[in-house]
Amino acid sequence: MRRNSRALERALAELAQQQLLRRCLTLEGADTPAGVRVCGTRTPLINFSGNDYLGLARDPRLAERMAECARARGAGSGAAHLVTGHGPEHAALEEEVASFLARERALLFSTGYMANLAALTAFTGRGDRVLLDRLNHASLIDGALLSGASFARYAHADAQALAQRLGASGTAPDAGVLVATDGVFSMDGDVAPVAAIARLCRDHEAWLVVDDAHGLGVLGPSGRGTLEQAALSSEDVPLLVGTFGKAFGSFGAFIAADAPVVEYLQQKARSYVYTTALPQPVAAATRVALRIATSEPWRRERVLALTERLRSGFARAGIPLSSSATPIQPVILGSAAQAIAAQVRLQKAGFLVAAIRPPTVPAGSARLRIALSASHREREVDALVAALAETLAALPDAGGASTQNQAERT
Ligand SMILES: *Cc1c(COP(=O)(O)O)cnc(C)c1O
Repeated sequence: MRRNSRALERALAELAQQQLLRRCLTLEGADTPAGVRVCGTRTPLINFSGNDYLGLARDPRLAERMAECARARGAGSGAAHLVTGHGPEHAALEEEVASFLARERALLFSTGYMANLAALTAFTGRGDRVLLDRLNHASLIDGALLSGASFARYAHADAQALAQRLGASGTAPDAGVLVATDGVFSMDGDVAPVAAIARLCRDHEAWLVVDDAHGLGVLGPSGRGTLEQAALSSEDVPLLVGTFGKAFGSFGAFIAADAPVVEYLQQKARSYVYTTALPQPVAAATRVALRIATSEPWRRERVLALTERLRSGFARAGIPLSSSATPIQPVILGSAAQAIAAQVRLQKAGFLVAAIRPPTVPAGSARLRIALSASHREREVDALVAALAETLAALPDAGGASTQNQAERT
């Protein structure tokens, strides 16, 4: 334990020295749809680091509905859902999400982080076993730790590796096994082999949780995410976790499942029971977002077309392509110092592209994480490709480091 401020200062200095110290940029919106400005500066930047895939976060229709609902129902919910915090906007949103995903019920959570804690802790405990993809979101790992079950991580997106874990002894005959995977991996943009994973889980009577924070609204013939793309039902994937803070442009999260599963979660999930319900204006705005996502498929088509445009630009410019076909497009650089240097250069060129460093990504795979949005313009994407090509050429050893790290990761 680091008890005194001197020890804390030393630890912080060490992080700084390794280029691992993190700081918030204080940002405000600028004039263009994807434009932002660092507060206190004049130059607008194009934001290529958000998760606002459908361009809804700053849509006036969400803001209007949020304001209107706040005036009618107040800013805060005042209590947990099970006490007196549950209102008509929550109830309607739960029904609409369930119907959007063709599941019996959905349960709202304040954040995706809390939804994942719930999904992992409500059904498993000591004596059970949890298996996680190595690159799963931190909240799934934390949920596994909190559950008290023993847990192991399998090689990334590798159904074969999962099969080995499922087949391995070490699980008591009456113990439960729960498998959890991201649908779309947040820092790599690749998609989990959910159909193969679901088949394995069925064969081994394991439960499956898919966290589709980055797939919902974007993937699948009608935007219903990774599971729609793979044609999987609630029989294949009993627990579907989704968030509203990404493609839907608002805030909050849910678990969609069969009615008894949701009923049980509502009784047992501590991250549902012991926390204040999200504000009704947020739920009201999310309902609008859900309607827009359904009625304006051009948003999904546009962000995917921009993704293709960026990737063809990369190919032409000789920028190493990841295997991602989603709006998350990583450019692996290797060291934290290189990722930061690239971020700084791009910022000077007018682009905000966040450097993602360990521990968010594995050591040696620091990267730029580019995320596209329907609110980007074609010429902004083209300009980013050009600026990135220049940036990489100017980085010491950039080409070498990226190919080497690509190789290590496969
Ligand atoms: C963002 C994210 C979460 C957390 O959702 P919040 O609502 O931001 O807490 C969970 N899982 C994945 C894969 C995510 O990307």
